[in-house]
Amino acid sequence: MLQLVIDDENVKVIKDDLGGYKLGTVKNAFGNILAVLEQQFPFAVNSTPKAYSKYFISRFKNSLETNTAEKEILLYGLKCSAYYLFDINLFLSDSDRWCYISKRGIKQKGEYKINLTMQDVEIWRVHHNITKAVIPVDWNNVDYAKGLRIDNITSFYELFYGLLYYYAFNGLKLVKCEHCGRWFATDNLKNKYCHRKSVVKGYEHLMCEQAVRNLYQQTTRKRKIIYNSIINQVSNTKFYVEDDVIEKEKTDFSKKCDEYKIKLDKTASAEVFAEYLIFLNNYKQEMKRM
Ligand SMILES: [Zn+2]
Repeated sequence: MLQLVIDDENVKVIKDDLGGYKLGTVKNAFGNILAVLEQQFPFAVNSTPKAYSKYFISRFKNSLETNTAEKEILLYGLKCSAYYLFDINLFLSDSDRWCYISKRGIKQKGEYKINLTMQDVEIWRVHHNITKAVIPVDWNNVDYAKGLRIDNITSFYELFYGLLYYYAFNGLKLVKCEHCGRWFATDNLKNKYCHRKSVVKGYEHLMCEQAVRNLYQQTTRKRKIIYNSIINQVSNTKFYVEDDVIEKEKTDFSKKCDEYKIKLDKTASAEVFAEYLIFLNNYKQEMKRM
């Protein structure tokens, strides 16, 4: 028998009192589960309702063949397939239901920012046929701030239900970290970054927010160094470099950097930073060889 236990710090799935699985801190557990599912089923990452229906069609078409989407694995002692990831993504991407947030004074739909309510949790429960009840850890103050548990869980839907219930009841919102792309719970929708370590190589020792700050500094510094070496090419080489050649290189280089900068100002994602760093480092290497 498996039991979901959320206390005010951690989330665990306990197995017959014989140990179990740690899912992380309360604020990270939801996103951690999703990240594990995404690792297992990469084709279902960021799945949209359109991708979801396509998956269903392929399910029927390939019903006689072995379909990777049908692959079932055991995770935290629960049976699991890509289906769960499709389903939770469908819920998370239902942006029409989610709140409007103010960005630079302009009200707009908050993509990947979910102001979860108890109604949303109830809809989740009904849609997924969940009949089990959450049980408060603290019977004197049933505000679930001290945590909750669900006994005898048998599916991922119940796992998500327990977490969503806890978040909604305690006024926590769900946000997708703009740097590492993993979801986290927070009391303020203005928070952009989670309390996890960055996934960018060389920056893994820093929390997402600090990593973003350092990466901005590093890329700006590298850009400046390269830019200066382009301008100073004449004095550095014995060969004569034409002015218009330098001018073109300067423009091309700046244009490429600006493209990355625009992307990063929109979302300071680990992926774009990693790409940008590779571009800058390769460029520097190439210049040294000249
Ligand atoms: Zn993060």
